[in-house]
Amino acid sequence: MDDKKRTEDLLKMAIEDLEGVERYIKELSSFLPLAVCTVNPLGVALIANSAFQNLTGYKEVEIIGEKVDGLFLNKRDFNNLIKSKILEKETSLTRKMILLTKEGKRIPVNLAISIRRDEKGNFLGYFIALSDISEAESFKQGLEKKVKERTKDLERRTEEITKSRLALMNVLEDVEKAKGESEEERDKTLAIFDNFPEGLLFLDKENRISSANPDIRDFFGLDPKKIIGKKIDELEKLSSTPFIDVLKESPKGIYRKELKLKENLILEISAIPVMRIEEKIGTLIILRNITREKIIERLKSEFVSIAAHQLRTPLSAVKWTLKMILDGDLGEISKEQREFLDKTYISNERMIRLINDLLNITRIEEGRFLYNVQKQSIIEVIEKAIASSREEAQRRGIHFEFKKPRKKIPEVKIDSEKISLVFQNLLDNAIHYTKTGGHVKVSINYLKDKEKIIISVRDTGIGILKDQQKRVFSRFFRGANAIKAETEGTGLGLFIAKNIVEAHNGKIWFESRENKGSTFHFSIPTF
Ligand code: ADP
Repeated sequence: MDDKKRTEDLLKMAIEDLEGVERYIKELSSFLPLAVCTVNPLGVALIANSAFQNLTGYKEVEIIGEKVDGLFLNKRDFNNLIKSKILEKETSLTRKMILLTKEGKRIPVNLAISIRRDEKGNFLGYFIALSDISEAESFKQGLEKKVKERTKDLERRTEEITKSRLALMNVLEDVEKAKGESEEERDKTLAIFDNFPEGLLFLDKENRISSANPDIRDFFGLDPKKIIGKKIDELEKLSSTPFIDVLKESPKGIYRKELKLKENLILEISAIPVMRIEEKIGTLIILRNITREKIIERLKSEFVSIAAHQLRTPLSAVKWTLKMILDGDLGEISKEQREFLDKTYISNERMIRLINDLLNITRIEEGRFLYNVQKQSIIEVIEKAIASSREEAQRRGIHFEFKKPRKKIPEVKIDSEKISLVFQNLLDNAIHYTKTGGHVKVSINYLKDKEKIIISVRDTGIGILKDQQKRVFSRFFRGANAIKAETEGTGLGLFIAKNIVEAHNGKIWFESRENKGSTFHFSIPTF
C-alpha cells in the first residue's frame, strides 16, 4: 500500500513538475518577441504566444485546436513543405510565406519550422515561428523601385545624351556645310574682286583699306597686300590724289571724280557707300580707266570744232557779201531782190549762230571753257552787253529798261566773255520772244548775307508752256509756242548758259507764264 501511495505521490509530483515546466515555457514564450506556435502531428495548434496572437490577429482561444495551415495564403504550399520536411527528416527550415491575418491583411513573413521528434526519431509535431518581414520587403521593394527608377532615369538620360549628341553632330554637320558654302562664296567674291577689270578698293567704316585688287598696283605702283589695314592718308601715293575729297563726299551717295594720274592714264573714281540694313559698313571705291574714252571724246570734239571753224569762214564771207549787196555797195537792187536777199541773210545768220553754239558746246564738253577768270565788276560786263542789244529792242518796238543797283557791289571772279554770253543769250531771248509794244527789264541785285549777285531779265513775252518748263535747259529744246511764232533759234543758248553759270558755281532758273511773260535769273557767288 505504501508503495502504491508513494508511486502515486511521485506521479503527482512529476505531473506538478511538468505543469510547472509547461507554465514556465508558456510564460517564457509569451515574453518572446518572436511569434511562436506549437503544432501537433496533425497540424493543429497547441500553444501560441502573444507575439503570434498579435501578428495573426487571432486570440489564443481562436488559434488553439485549429489547423495552422489556414493561416497562410497558400495552404497547399505550407502542407507540402511540412510533408517534405518530415520525410527528409530535417529538423528545421525557413521559408518566405504570406500570412493571412484575421482582418484579411496579407503580411509577408519569414516562416521557420522546427520538427519535433522523440529519441527514436518518431514525429511529434513541430514549432512554427513567424517574423514580419513586410518592412524589410517594402524596404526591398522601395529599393527595387528606386533602383528601377534610377535605371530608367539613367536610360532616359543616356537616350537624351545620345539624342543631343546626334543633334550636335547634325549641327556640326550643318556648320561644316555652311562653312564650306561661305568659304566658297568668299572665294568667289575674292576671285571676282581680283579679276575685276577695274581697280577696286574696299574701305571699312574707319576708312581703312580692307581689300584692294591687283589693278590698284598697276595704277599706283603699290603692292595691294602691303596696303591692307592702312588709312588712305597714310599712303603718300594715294593721298596725293583726290581720294580724300571723294571719301569726304561719298557718305551721301555715289560720287564720281576724274583723275589724271599721268599723261596717258585718266581714271574715273567712283565711291559707293556699302550698306547693310541701314548701316554703312564701308565704302567701295571703283577706279575705271577712262583714258581711251577721253581720247575718243577729244577726237570727237576736235572734229566738230574743226568742221565748225571750216564752215564759219565761208559763211562769214557770204554774210559780208550779202551785206555789201544789201547796203547798195554793188549798185541798186530791186525791192524783190532785197526781199530774197534779206531772207538769205537771215538764214545765213542762223547758220552762223548754230555753228557758234556748236563750237561753244564742244568747248564746254571738253571742260576748257573758263580760261580767263578775273576779278571784275559784273555791272560793266552787263552794260557792255546791253549796249549791243538796245538797238535791236528799239528796232522791234520793245520798251527796254535797265535798273542798276543803288549800292556799290563787290567785284566777282568771272570769265567776262562767258558771262557776257550768258547774259546776251537771256537778253536776246527776252527781246526775241516778246511782241512789239512789250517790255524787257534787266536788274542786278546784291544779296550781301547770301554772298551772291543775282542778274534778272524780265519780259512780257510769249512765256513757256507749263508742261515744257522742265526741259528748258536741255540741249536743242525749243518751245512749241516759240516754233509757232516762227522765231529763229537753235535751242542751244540756255544749255550753254547753264553750263557756264554752273562752272562759276552759280545757279540759273526762271519763272514763266504762257502769254504773260518770263523772268530768267542767274546768280554768281561773291566769295
Ligand atoms: P533758242 O532761243 O535759240 O531757241 P534757247 O536755249 O536760248 O534757244 O532757248 C530755248 C527755248 O526756250 C526757246 O526756243 C524758247 O522756246 C524758250 N525760251 C527761252 N527764253 C524764253 C523767253 N524769254 N520767253 C519765252 N520762251 C523762251
